[in-house]
Amino acid sequence: MTIKNYINGNFHNPIQENWLDNYNPSNGEVYGQIPNSSNEDVENAYIAAKSAFPSWSQISIEERSRILIKISELLEANLDRFAAAESKDNGKPISLAKAVDIPRAASNFRFFGNAITQFASESHESVGLQAVNYTLRQPIGVVGCISPWNLPLYLFTWKIAPAIAAGNCVVAKPSEVTPMTAYLLGEICNEAGLPKGVLNIVHGLGTTTGQAIIEHEDIKAISFTGGTATGAHIAKVAAPMFKKLSLELGGKNPNIIFADCDYEDMLDTTVRSSFANQGQICLCGSRIFVEASIYEKFKVDFVERIKALKVGHPAEASTNIGALVSKSHLKKVKEFIEIAKTENGTILCGGNEVTIKDFENGYYLEPTVIEVPTNECRVNQEEIFGPVVTIMPFLTEDEVLQMANKVKYGLSATLWTNNLKRTMRMSNQLQTGIVWINTWMLRDLRTPFGGMKASGVGREGGFEALRFFTEAKNVCIKY
Ligand code: NDP
Repeated sequence: MTIKNYINGNFHNPIQENWLDNYNPSNGEVYGQIPNSSNEDVENAYIAAKSAFPSWSQISIEERSRILIKISELLEANLDRFAAAESKDNGKPISLAKAVDIPRAASNFRFFGNAITQFASESHESVGLQAVNYTLRQPIGVVGCISPWNLPLYLFTWKIAPAIAAGNCVVAKPSEVTPMTAYLLGEICNEAGLPKGVLNIVHGLGTTTGQAIIEHEDIKAISFTGGTATGAHIAKVAAPMFKKLSLELGGKNPNIIFADCDYEDMLDTTVRSSFANQGQICLCGSRIFVEASIYEKFKVDFVERIKALKVGHPAEASTNIGALVSKSHLKKVKEFIEIAKTENGTILCGGNEVTIKDFENGYYLEPTVIEVPTNECRVNQEEIFGPVVTIMPFLTEDEVLQMANKVKYGLSATLWTNNLKRTMRMSNQLQTGIVWINTWMLRDLRTPFGGMKASGVGREGGFEALRFFTEAKNVCIKY
C-alpha cells in the first residue's frame, strides 16, 4: 500500500522520491510506504493552499457548511473501511476504532459544519459617542495542522474541520506512524466537493516535514497536538514569526477516588480511563489516588478486573487491549516499568510483553498496575502514555489535592465523590483544563478543551476553535 501526498486535490509522490516504511503494530511487519516529504513538497502544499484562498473564505457559509457535513456523511458511510485502516495502522482494537475514533472524526466535520453557521460576531454601540463598533472574524489564510498517532483521524480532523469551516486553507501533517486514515480522507474530501487546495496533506517525519511547516513564514497559525517537548520546540520556532499557536500537549492526569463515590460505576470507568486505547490517550487517568478507607478493597477489585482484560489482535472483536503503536514506544513503556521497580514500586499486575500466536512480532504489553510509595517518583511525574497506571492511597482532601497538582502537567482530572461541597472546592482548585466529576472522557464538542501548565496553550472545541482560526478585527464607525 503506497500512500501519497494530497496536494491541490490530487495524489502525488514526494518530489525527491524518498519513502518511509509503514509498520503494522499487530505483527511488526512493514505493510506500506509513505512519502518522506521534503521542504519542496511542503512548499507545493502551501502554494496550493494559498491559491485556494481567499476564494474558499468567500464561498457562502451555507455552502461551506454543506461540504463539511457531506464529508461527515461520507465518513459515516465508509465507517468499516476507515475503522479497519485505523486499527491496522495504530494497533487499536477495531471495536474502539468503530465505536469511537471514526464516528468522532465524522462528528468533528458535522459539528463545525453546523457551528460555523452560528458563529456570530459582536457589535457595541458606544453610547454618547455616536459611534458603533463591530468585530469582524476573518480567516487567517493558510494554517498548519499537525497531529499525533494515538487518535489519528479523530485528532487530525479536530483541527482541520474548524480550520476550513472558518474559511482557512490548510497544510496538514498526520503522524508519520499513523498516516493511513489521513490519506483516505483526501478521497472523501474530493467526493464531497471540497475545492482543490483547501486541504493539503503532506506525509513525513516530524523533524523534516513537520519542521518545514512550522518554519514556513507564510503559514500564519499552527494548531499542534503532540508531546510537550515538541510543543516547546514549536513555540520557539514560531515565536520570532509571531505565529498564532494552539498547543495540546502531554498529560499525567489524576484520577481521585473518594470512599463516598458510586463504587461500581467508578470501577467500570476507571478500568476504561486507565487502559482505553492501550493507555495511549492524553486524557487517561494515569495516576490513581484512592481514599485510604477503601484502598485495599479497590486494589483487589481493580487488579481482578484488569487481569480479566484480553490482550489480543486488534482485529478480533473480543480484544480489549490491542498492540502499542510502535516498537520504540513499547520499549519506552517497558523502561518505565523497570524504573518503577528501582523506585520501590510494586507491580500488582502486568509488566510483561505478551506473545500472540501467529503475531509473535507484534507490540503487545500486559495492562500494568503499579503501587507507588510516593507521588514524587518518576512513574508518577512523567508521561508514560501506555498501558501503565500507578495507584496510591490518601488520607485527606488537602493531601490529595496537593499531590494531584504537584506535577508539571495540567490537562485533566477525574474526581469520584458524591459530596457536592467537596466537588465544588476541588474542581475550583485542581490545576487542569478539564475536570470530570463521576465520569471520564464525556465530551460535548461545544466545550473548551485544552490544558494548563506543560499540557499546553490555548483551547480547542466549539467557538474557541473558530476563534483560534480567525483574526478578530474591530471596526469603529463614528456617525
Ligand atoms: P510528538 O510530539 O512526537 O508528535 C506529534 C506530531 O508532531 C507528529 O505528527 C510528529 O511527526 C510531529 N512533529 C515531531 N517533531 C516535529 C517538529 N520538529 N516540527 C513539527 N512537527 C513535529 O507526539 P506523539 O506523536 O508521540 O504523540 C504523543 C503525545 O501527544 C503525548 O505526549 C500525548 O500526551 C500528546 N497528546 C496530547 C493531546 C492533547 O489533546 N493534549 C491528545 C493526544 C496526544 P512524527 O510522527 O513524524 O514524529
